Amino acid sequence: MTDNPSAKKIYGLIGYPVKHSLSPAMHNAAFQALNINAEYKLFELKPEELEGFLSGVKKNNIFGLNVTVPYKEKVMPFLDNLSEEAKLIGAVNTIKCSGEKLEGFNTDGAGFLEHLIQDLKFDPAGKDIAIIGAGGAARAVSVSLSKKGPKGIAIYDIDKSKLSALISHLQENFKGIDFIAAPSVAQLNLKNVDLLVNATPIGMKESDPCPIEDIPLSGGLLVYDLIYNPQETKLLKIARAGGSCVANGLGMLLYQGVESFEFWTGQKAPVEVMRQALSEAINK
Ligand code: NAP
Repeated sequence: MTDNPSAKKIYGLIGYPVKHSLSPAMHNAAFQALNINAEYKLFELKPEELEGFLSGVKKNNIFGLNVTVPYKEKVMPFLDNLSEEAKLIGAVNTIKCSGEKLEGFNTDGAGFLEHLIQDLKFDPAGKDIAIIGAGGAARAVSVSLSKKGPKGIAIYDIDKSKLSALISHLQENFKGIDFIAAPSVAQLNLKNVDLLVNATPIGMKESDPCPIEDIPLSGGLLVYDLIYNPQETKLLKIARAGGSCVANGLGMLLYQGVESFEFWTGQKAPVEVMRQALSEAINK
């Protein structure tokens, strides 16, 4: 790290691949709006480069990182400290670098909740929730929803061992919530839930099927797809046509970025500037 306080601070995203990320647009717009001499860059790393990259952050004047697939769990052994949230979710998407000291956080769950509660006005307390997928994003979403006291959360994943591990983890950490490992999408009981979350990558490709097939949805349902590119997946199209409220994952991306920005800089993030930058970047 340079001792010159006026040197440009570096932030960025590590993952593989990262080249289509919208995060540089959002964070660089925020740095510019607040007159912070910093730049957010993309670092596409091969697995064998991860440890060396993390040990070189000080020398490269890096003050903060976001972490995406496939490193959200793999970075954890290299960090000096983990937040309670990161421990509970079992993954890190944000690293704050203070010299050589690396602290890991997870802002995915909080970002999802902020979008859900503040923008979509959905209060999870006492609600019945269904989640498709039990991978990293589902872990973040289910842990943060559980903190808000829903009545029940039913989860389905084609990988049964991942599904049962997530259900056991939630049952151990959150009492008084009815957690169900659904053996099929049909058994998510979608006619009787208030919120359905797609936390699988099904829908990212044009050729992907709809993850709920032709199962009917309840009228007052909110359907939230964590995917934001495409902005309207087959799931959201079908749900909207059936009268459900729908949301894609762009809001989650925004608010996880807002929280990361605030961890790194200690300043209030310019949320509307970041929202606008994301919207322009995705519509390019
Ligand atoms: P992941 O760790 O690979 O988890 C996805 C899970 O879904 C896997 O367990 C997978 O099983 C399962 N699955 C695949 N197809 C399925 C199907 N048809 N029915 C049921 N389960 C199925 O991925 P992730 O990191 O959690 O990400 C999931 C999605 O969330 C991605 O589209 C990602 O882009 C999105 N995401 C968005 C944000 C945001 O800010 N908006 C943040 C994080 C992630 P297998 O492993 O056996 O295939």
